Amino acid sequence: MNIIKCIGILQRYSSVIISTKRFMLKQSINHIMNKKVFDRYIRLPVPCNKVLATYFWIDGSGINLRNKDRILNCTPYTADAAPGWAFDGSSTGQATTANSDTSLKPCAVYKDPFRLEPHVVVLAEVYMGDGKPALTNHRKFCNDLCEFHKAEEPWFGLEQEYTMLDVDGWGLGWPKGGGFPAVNYEFSYCGVGAKYIAGRDVCESHAKACLYAGCDFEGTNAEVMFACWEWQIGTTIGIKAADDMWMSRYVMSRVSEDYGVVVTYHPKPMGAKHPGVGMHHNFSTKRMRSDGGFKFIEECIGRLEKNHMKHMKNYGNDEMTNRQRLSGKFETAPFDKFSWGMANRKASIRLPRNIKTVGKGFMEDRRPGGDCDPYLVCGLLMDTCLGSAPGGGSTKKC
Ligand code: ADP
Ligand code: MN
Ligand code: MN
Ligand code: MN
Repeated sequence: MNIIKCIGILQRYSSVIISTKRFMLKQSINHIMNKKVFDRYIRLPVPCNKVLATYFWIDGSGINLRNKDRILNCTPYTADAAPGWAFDGSSTGQATTANSDTSLKPCAVYKDPFRLEPHVVVLAEVYMGDGKPALTNHRKFCNDLCEFHKAEEPWFGLEQEYTMLDVDGWGLGWPKGGGFPAVNYEFSYCGVGAKYIAGRDVCESHAKACLYAGCDFEGTNAEVMFACWEWQIGTTIGIKAADDMWMSRYVMSRVSEDYGVVVTYHPKPMGAKHPGVGMHHNFSTKRMRSDGGFKFIEECIGRLEKNHMKHMKNYGNDEMTNRQRLSGKFETAPFDKFSWGMANRKASIRLPRNIKTVGKGFMEDRRPGGDCDPYLVCGLLMDTCLGSAPGGGSTKKC
């Protein structure tokens, strides 16, 4: 009797152990699914008074995105025309279970590159039950500054670097079992050929999908590290730069899902011996672009130097990993030390080579990590260089 009871307890106990054990995926189920069968259904026409709208938002992690779909009666061509919505914030790290209704406020509408017109993708901001922006919602901070400095016409050009991983978490095309690619990184930047790059189809599909959606998508290139790439958004005026960056991140999540590839924006995904991953922010204002603008750029550099550590605290999803990236190696400046220079890729701020001769131009902030929030970075650049917006929201860390 006792033995049977014992076995029963053991069985129950072991089933708990088994059910809580997590296994790393060996292969992504998404890309094994038969896309030809899927095509049969996705092509079905829907009634003319039905439009599918995918709402997406930044979750409590500050870097991951969530989406859900709803059917509308007509296409909302602007954010104002898209209805507000809500979700369970307790399942996204944004609210407690007892106070979980969390609001979605549409802020930009894109053409859906997966279902095609007339269907849409809606970028939404997250607000809490008390009407305050969620902790990871920095769009208001940025937008208030864009509005306040409208006359200065702030332009942004954002360079998003990223790394492709296999679903097992190891670099795409990197030798299994912890080995390194046999290629010398000297040949991978803007590289061509299977020996030097991996994952071009993902990069290419993403570019087309972003252009279809209506992003100010500017270009792509393979990066120094094998399976690492970059895309650029810009040159775009005001809030649309950061909005389009988040939309293009959403598109990348969906495209990479189709290919069974995991995309990470981790600033130092492969450790100290390999290059890091950043998001350079190129920035200019009307004054900087006008004759004599170099003097104003110098003034701004002075202000950026004074506020260096405030910026560094907000320039990545996790300060520690961006610190690992900004090691002074692999074309980076040290995390704790501000520097600037012309054509200098080892500086915090790089100015284009011709800036002194033409006397105007823009600056490149090379400090943000790949997983930064462009709302925070663009917002801080305006805040520091041009001044704070009245009553404007605060940043994550000061
Ligand atoms: P690199 O890799 O050499 O830094 P990229 O071509 O990847 O250069 O990126 C350059 C960025 O500079 C682009 O995103 C572009 O939009 C941006 N840019 C160019 N001129 C300006 C400007 N006047 N103001 C803001 N951004 C600019
Ligand atoms: Mn670049
Ligand atoms: Mn780059
Ligand atoms: Mn750059």
